Amino acid sequence: MNGAQLPPPPPPSAPQIGGQRPPPPPPPGAGPGGGALPPQIQAQPGQRPPPPPPGSRPPMQNWRPAPGGPGAVVQQPGFAPPGPPAAQQYRPVAQQPPPGPPPGQAMHHHMQARPQQLPPTQGPARGISPPQQPMQQPMQQYPQQYQQRPSYVPQQQIQQPPIQQMLPPTQGIPSLTQQMGGMNMGQQQQMQQQHIQQQQPGVHSPPPGSQSHKQRTRRAYATFNPEVSGDAPSQGGPAGYPPMNNQQMAGFPGTAGPQGAPITGPQTFVPGAQAPMPLPNTASPYARSPGAVPLGQQSQQQQQQQAPYEPQKPRIDPNQMPSPITVHMHDQESYGSAQPYSTAQRLNAPLACTEFTAVDDGNSNPRFMRMTMGNLPHTEELLKASHLPLGIIVQPLADLAPSEEPVKLIDFGEEGPIRCLRCKTYINPHMVFINGGKTFVCNMCRHENDVPDDYFCNLDMAGKRLDSETRPELRNGTVEFVATKDFIARQPAPASFVFAIDVSWNAVQSGMVTYAAAAIKEALYSGPGLPSGVRVGIVTYDRSVHFYSLSPSLDQAQMMVVPDIMDMFVPINEGFVVDPIEAEHVIKPLLDALPIMFANNRTAEPVLGAVVQAAHEALRGRGGKLIMFQTALPTFGPGSLKQRDDVKLHNTDKERSLYEPQDAFYREWAIKLVEDGISCSLYVFPSAYIDAATLSQLSTVTGGELYSYPAFEGGRDGRRLVADVRADAQRTYGGSAVLRIRTSDGMRVDEHYGNLYMRNHVDVELAGVTSDSAVGALLQYDGKLDEKQDAYIQAALLYTTSDGQRRIRVHNLAAPCTTLIGNMFRSSEVDASMNLIAKMAASDALTTSLKSIREKLTDRCVQILTAYRRNCASGSAPGQLILPEAYKLSPLYNLALLKSPALRGGADVPIDQRIFHMCLLRQLSVRKTMDYFYPTIAPLHMLAENEGVVDETTGAVVLPTFVRASYSLLDPAGIYLLASNGSLMLWFGRQVSPALLQAVVGVSALEQIDSKMHSIPEVATELNQKIRAIADGLVPSRAGYANVQVVRQGMDQAEVQFAALLVEDRNNDNMTYVDFVCAIHRQIQVEARPKGPSEPKWSYH
Ligand SMILES: [Zn+2]
Repeated sequence: MNGAQLPPPPPPSAPQIGGQRPPPPPPPGAGPGGGALPPQIQAQPGQRPPPPPPGSRPPMQNWRPAPGGPGAVVQQPGFAPPGPPAAQQYRPVAQQPPPGPPPGQAMHHHMQARPQQLPPTQGPARGISPPQQPMQQPMQQYPQQYQQRPSYVPQQQIQQPPIQQMLPPTQGIPSLTQQMGGMNMGQQQQMQQQHIQQQQPGVHSPPPGSQSHKQRTRRAYATFNPEVSGDAPSQGGPAGYPPMNNQQMAGFPGTAGPQGAPITGPQTFVPGAQAPMPLPNTASPYARSPGAVPLGQQSQQQQQQQAPYEPQKPRIDPNQMPSPITVHMHDQESYGSAQPYSTAQRLNAPLACTEFTAVDDGNSNPRFMRMTMGNLPHTEELLKASHLPLGIIVQPLADLAPSEEPVKLIDFGEEGPIRCLRCKTYINPHMVFINGGKTFVCNMCRHENDVPDDYFCNLDMAGKRLDSETRPELRNGTVEFVATKDFIARQPAPASFVFAIDVSWNAVQSGMVTYAAAAIKEALYSGPGLPSGVRVGIVTYDRSVHFYSLSPSLDQAQMMVVPDIMDMFVPINEGFVVDPIEAEHVIKPLLDALPIMFANNRTAEPVLGAVVQAAHEALRGRGGKLIMFQTALPTFGPGSLKQRDDVKLHNTDKERSLYEPQDAFYREWAIKLVEDGISCSLYVFPSAYIDAATLSQLSTVTGGELYSYPAFEGGRDGRRLVADVRADAQRTYGGSAVLRIRTSDGMRVDEHYGNLYMRNHVDVELAGVTSDSAVGALLQYDGKLDEKQDAYIQAALLYTTSDGQRRIRVHNLAAPCTTLIGNMFRSSEVDASMNLIAKMAASDALTTSLKSIREKLTDRCVQILTAYRRNCASGSAPGQLILPEAYKLSPLYNLALLKSPALRGGADVPIDQRIFHMCLLRQLSVRKTMDYFYPTIAPLHMLAENEGVVDETTGAVVLPTFVRASYSLLDPAGIYLLASNGSLMLWFGRQVSPALLQAVVGVSALEQIDSKMHSIPEVATELNQKIRAIADGLVPSRAGYANVQVVRQGMDQAEVQFAALLVEDRNNDNMTYVDFVCAIHRQIQVEARPKGPSEPKWSYH
């Protein structure tokens, strides 16, 4: 080996993965059973030693090949190859002496660790077509979604209700139609109310066209439900789904059951809106729980259990229901204009999904802090009367829009930033200077502090400091201070990211290793690369742990194996973590070689605990991030776990025991990681139970994140993995962080929610914090607020930047206090509220049964809306459902939360998936929660001229007007792209014309579409080009879109998953949106009846 043979290293900052790329390679693995080598690898036989014959594998315990054994290629006595057969392929290099062990790690028995030279780099580098290349997408700013559109739903789908019949009986209140018309047309809504009149049966005939929708949609399920398809005749027979039984109504405490309440009746009146019956998630063999009933059987059983279906005419047109699409479109119209949003405004802030430009005029940008309401109640009693959640979501390192001013950095020298002596609040624009400028009054505790001499400044006639416009800390809601020595526990250093890849049999065969290696390469060398200053280390592991020296002075990486995992140490002193650019010539070939090096690895038990211990030791004192890729339950070595999943517990109260960690090992080590400022992103690829509840301690305690890819298949999930790793590693990163939220006297933070660790009750420790990290805080009163003054919140994040600077980022908000409940409702923000409620609900799952959590969620929704009715709309007719304007989406989001795999009922959600979704709910930012709750569905078959094209002024792709998440609104002759939580589904209706198909995917019949394809094929048509641009625009990820799943109506099994995302329809045990609102309404009527003040059944306060 010599340097000349290596390919020349590319320029450090140039994107290595350009636009011109070969097409995606075939998936490298043939699945767990396949075991075949990828053809690319087989094509390189001459370049590396042949794999050892099957019988030559050495015993696991000693990792030494039998002396002179047939597979041994070791040339140096006593210098055994690192272990699994694949590793024997490497030529040990005698010329390069092993680096000495780190000082203090005496060279006792650990000298088993051996340096190994890696195989020639050219072979593998050429041998593997880099799988990350096709994923490369241009960086996308999240597009302007709502640009001058003709209407929010395609004209043909708008079903106009009979206006006269919808008028409510009372005078002076805008009718439903007027209100809804206002929603559509952007009219002023002075009353800020939604009135949905409950109609008498039979008064409102179904909208024209609904019948045909019903028929078409039913056809969609012909494959899945023979009973339904059997009676889906063209004359529109009463095939559908039975009404809810009492068990299904269980989420609605207090209801008398279907027959008791006035509008209960059969719940299935939404034309064509029914989703398929609940089915086990059959996408993954793992997902099918052993107790689950097979598809056909299950639906038959349910049909038998339930009352016969009675056709019923619709009472409420689903199109009249409050829609997130309309709400977001209006918000975009209000805030997306040329006029930027000033944070000094006392109006509601733009919503999280809106594209806006904020100017920091004394309050933080809403990207950093969002309160659940803009006007704070002055007493706890008022808060309780509203039942609204009062809290704040802090996203301290959130990305700003390019059009926004970066956060200003201020250095106060050795003295550090000015703070209130009593409560330690940092200087901010809301502190008041008095006494000629010699004293400042703390805005939190009203303490009068002396102004230090060197900070003194005269006041103007209005009592304002003359320098207040030039000092950012007196002008901006968000600033960053250079931290003084007092804030530095240990010398800050640039962060180190250690990637630890499971290379056991499953990991290799599923293609995970190939894609993980590709993902790391992409994260390191594409686009902006890692955050500045970040160093990189690489570890692989199976039953032993393999370290790599990546020192830039080497020609290629050196491998060291520590076989004794019970006594873990790091065998490399220098070169374990390196600058990825300086060592590019070492790292890239290693990543290319990894899948080949372990191609024949038959070891099945990847250790995990030992890797955590090793990473802890390696990163101790410097901090950083451990990014782990794990395929199986660790059953070997430290932290080994038992298989404890038991389907008999599923869907019972005892299921909760599976949410708790099975032993303390991972939590204890996670706390050690926190102490050393090491966060952990855990990527799991379970093909069987992996005990995410226990393993996720690593990410939840350390401020990391959990990513899950059940039954990983490289071809299907590889793109997603690459996109996720890239986004995870490249986003803004801070280490060793402590977040402290301070509030005005009279309030305090009651509880913090998120992936964090609390050593005491006030300091939120985040071993790592990224631009996506979001912490929720529930506020509580311990006194009374002065309604004549503003209330204040300050969130201060002490952290180390990725390049090793210790900083304090301070966010400030001032909110007016109110004595009026109406102001609270008017200023409420449902997005932030639902984010907080979801975080609380997911956190409650450890102590409360899912059934009670669901009941409480529904109950709370009812209580809030009842409070509004009682206090703000008491004059309205009892038959009207009145929704506060700012909270009108709360029933829909509540329903979405109830339908989330984290909380929904049913035994078909695998425990690991439940845990994964609970982690998601706890960790997601407000914007991502909205993506999670409600999918984006773009119609592709009727694009306007400018849609799917980049807008020159914004630089973003113009997206079509989205369609609501209901099957009834999908045109069987149409094609739609659904985006949810970073994944895309491409839905083809049964009646799509051959010409349209040809233009979109290049074939003329649905049957010819490759249902396994994972990206939109390139066809030389304008429409195809537009659709691919829309796909990029729909996923607001730094890494472009992930994989695309094809769903052909009535043909593909994936339609079950697709239908499950249509939250307005009936899914699993959960109601349609219309039914849910009716049920809520019924309860509000019960609650609002004149009687004594009813105690809330449940409250977070
Ligand atoms: Zn103070």
